[in-house]
Amino acid sequence: MYRITLIPGDGTGPEITEAVRRVLEATGVPFDWDVQHAGEDVYREEGSPLPDRVLESIRKNKVAIKGPITTPVGKGFRSVNVTLRQVLDLFSCVRPCKSYKGAKTIYDNIDLVIFRENTEDLYAGIEYQKGSEGAKAIIDLVEKISERTIRQDSGISIKPISVFGTERIVREAFEYARKNKRKKVTSVHKANIMKYSDGLFLEVSREVAKEYPDIEFEDRIIDNMCMQLVQKPALYDVLVMANLYGDIVSDLCAGLVGGLGMAPGANIGKEYAVFEATHGSAPKYKGLNKVNPLAMLLSGVMMLRYLGETAAAEKLDDAIASVVREGKDVTYDLKPTPDDPSAATTSGMADAIIAKMTTE
Ligand code: NAD
Repeated sequence: MYRITLIPGDGTGPEITEAVRRVLEATGVPFDWDVQHAGEDVYREEGSPLPDRVLESIRKNKVAIKGPITTPVGKGFRSVNVTLRQVLDLFSCVRPCKSYKGAKTIYDNIDLVIFRENTEDLYAGIEYQKGSEGAKAIIDLVEKISERTIRQDSGISIKPISVFGTERIVREAFEYARKNKRKKVTSVHKANIMKYSDGLFLEVSREVAKEYPDIEFEDRIIDNMCMQLVQKPALYDVLVMANLYGDIVSDLCAGLVGGLGMAPGANIGKEYAVFEATHGSAPKYKGLNKVNPLAMLLSGVMMLRYLGETAAAEKLDDAIASVVREGKDVTYDLKPTPDDPSAATTSGMADAIIAKMTTE
């Protein structure tokens, strides 16, 4: 029996999570869910969107699967999603983007894996509001040590990239490549402009690459990378990058495989792992039983593999592939047009996947 922390999240999170819970149970793998609520409603009720009990539960159970959680834009509480990754040191964000036959895509046979560093970069949360003591102190310091000026009415976000942080994410990418018989790792950066942060990321990537002579290594500047991924995605295999680029490129690659409904992810550290979709809480669809549960369900497939339940993972992945290929019991985003009246609901698609697993 696996005791797993289950975080339903908010927005469309709870309806997706419920569908995913039912499908995971139907694999026959025994789960004992430790349900922990977090997010917007919890913030109103308990004064924190991420109460300690949630972190304690993950520390105890070691593995969690979560629905998306809303982050207020420009104000309010800090992102629960980012905080979880930082507090639990889930430094490695693994996001496979694989095309499933039947999903609307520009290209067939996309099979990319993104490794996004999860704890540093502009996501470190070291920020100073315009006019604050911190912002003033930094503006003064920069003027003193570099003779450069920052406008007094600036807000400031700091971008730290360390040797330690880069080494461990790049190593994860290479280890994954070796274990999964992948051919190439591409390090993505903007080292031509940010010489000391992205420059360091590139330099450390090159050093780590020397330890893996069996795997091809190359680097790409982020802007060129985006263009290449849109035009020639088949040239790429495993991609490794810092936090912000990883966030953006993940959505770009989700677009290559049929949209955010098809893009799973895992946040993995040395001790704990939290599985979650790439997408957010899609609040405009909240309560409509409409959105695609596959991104979180495919994150569940990743969780099954992480737990060593390979046969169950494969059985579930096959059932998903066959439902998507048939194209009948799929949500609106996988239909030829989004207003297709034959689109399945979130729970209806889960039922179809359960039926596939139990009949095949
Ligand atoms: P979003 O990913 O929630 O949705 C953007 C659009 O993508 C949706 O309007 C919808 O058209 C499509 N989409 C997303 N999920 C889908 C699904 N399962 N099936 C079908 N279509 C889907 O992005 P957003 O609107 O920018 O963010 C909403 C909130 O989610 C914000 O508060 C944001 O901070 C948060 N967020 C959370 C996470 C997380 O929990 N890890 C990740 C990203 C964003």
